[in-house]
Amino acid sequence: MAQEDVFKKVVSHCKEYGFVFPSSDIYDGLGAVYDYGQNGVEMKNNIKQYWWQSMVLMHENIVGIDSAIFMHPTIWKASGHVDAFNDPLIDNRDSKKRYRADVLIEEQIAKYEEKVEKEVAKARKRFGDAFDEQKYRETSPKVAEELAKRDALHERYSKAMNAMDLEELRQIILDEEIVCPISGTRNWTEVRQFNLMFKTEMGSTADGASTIYLRPETAQGIFVNYLNVQKTGRMKIPFGIAQIGKAFRNEIVARQFIFRMREFEQMEMQFFIKPGTELDWFKTWKQTRMAWHQNLGFGAENYRFHDHEKLAHYANAATDIEFKMPFGFKEVEGIHSRTNFDLSQHEKYSGKSIKYFDPELNESYTPYVIETSIGVDRMFLSVMCHSYQEEQLENGETRVVLRLPAALAPVKLAVMPLTKKDGLPEKAREIIDDLKFHFNCQYDEKDSIGKRYRRQDAIGTPYCVTVDHQSLEDNTVTIRFRDTMEQERVNISDLLGIIEDKVTITSLLKKLK
Ligand code: ATP
Repeated sequence: MAQEDVFKKVVSHCKEYGFVFPSSDIYDGLGAVYDYGQNGVEMKNNIKQYWWQSMVLMHENIVGIDSAIFMHPTIWKASGHVDAFNDPLIDNRDSKKRYRADVLIEEQIAKYEEKVEKEVAKARKRFGDAFDEQKYRETSPKVAEELAKRDALHERYSKAMNAMDLEELRQIILDEEIVCPISGTRNWTEVRQFNLMFKTEMGSTADGASTIYLRPETAQGIFVNYLNVQKTGRMKIPFGIAQIGKAFRNEIVARQFIFRMREFEQMEMQFFIKPGTELDWFKTWKQTRMAWHQNLGFGAENYRFHDHEKLAHYANAATDIEFKMPFGFKEVEGIHSRTNFDLSQHEKYSGKSIKYFDPELNESYTPYVIETSIGVDRMFLSVMCHSYQEEQLENGETRVVLRLPAALAPVKLAVMPLTKKDGLPEKAREIIDDLKFHFNCQYDEKDSIGKRYRRQDAIGTPYCVTVDHQSLEDNTVTIRFRDTMEQERVNISDLLGIIEDKVTITSLLKKLK
């Protein structure tokens, strides 16, 4: 199936099966805002738990907080967001569509890379078994030509972004002959800066009201609580503070479903360390976070690091963990070495000392910070895209199955009485009443067993149990496994043991170690 089709199918599947709905659906939706449905919320909670527990339970020196969305407006002045949380935007005069200038150029860079890959694929076909890919990449003039174009563009783009030279960004778009995908023309406006923060008013009177912002990241809530947590928790450096919460960005181009939303959720952890140790910790957290992703079993080839060309003014190292979505490798998580920028700024703007007294060194310093920042919704999308599969069965039918990691699946077990009579529903309920304390179970008695299996496959339920007349006699049931579709006769009393170990977050965490 073409990757574009996969994405379209995932989007409609999410709606049809109660994972994700457009916000305000009966009013035709609201741009780039989405709601999670009955299955989506379960899976989202599982993702959050997997992250939270891997941080807070698995690390003695990481604790969590939950800070408010509204914060003192000076915080955003101190953090640099009021002045610098901008995206460069450009409009196409013909289509009236708005784009991020940086994204248009990055897509152009990716196009050169795609051309290289196409050349390599063509050569592989031509030479067959004798193909020496490495040699071809090193010696082919066509490959060299595309790579040279890519590198030149890359260099020019990095320079322009670092200097935030808006005219040069526009010139690059013109020189590269980038066209608007809608109108197909190159009739571009100037490039302008656009601040992404949402504003609102706090206070009841016009005079007394002050402008406050909806937080564009959860991190600042951690920085401004650093002293509170360090003191009350008697935390010793190195230590981390984790938080999960909503963030808001007035994104210029909000497409691609829940990949880029205006209201989304982040899972962020700020790790406070001794100055000078940041590059070692940066490396450690890169590995730790990559291991967390790969632990889901989606295949290492679907992930890569993408080191930042343009470092934010406060960072001295930064990388993204990218996942292979149907629309290409895309950022799911950022890992940043933020120096002591944020804490120093808050010291300056609040007038409070935010120093740590290091008893081993017998001196005080403003801690350095490594941040890991992942979007819940992007993570959700990556899990969905990877798990969605259409399978051709031996009997000619097609089944849609979500091959979700069992620990993330919204429903772990569906219990189905073969018929609605003869005491089978009661027996099925008995099983659920016993197991519902351990994991999420669903009772399903409508339609044929085959249809019920398909319904559960479509929401990724790893186990289905069918209760039949024999169950009443010998307390056994048929358990059916989602991925293999194999069935086994087992004792009801064994169900907990068979299932629990595979579906809990703990099972995932144990594999991490
Ligand atoms: P992008 O370059 O895609 O705009 P970013 O580099 O601005 O992302 P960060 O500020 O590093 O993103 O935010 C950390 C994480 O938060 C991202 O890796 C992503 O998973 C998530 N995130 C950021 N913006 C959005 C958004 N608009 N919608 C959904 N998730 C987002």
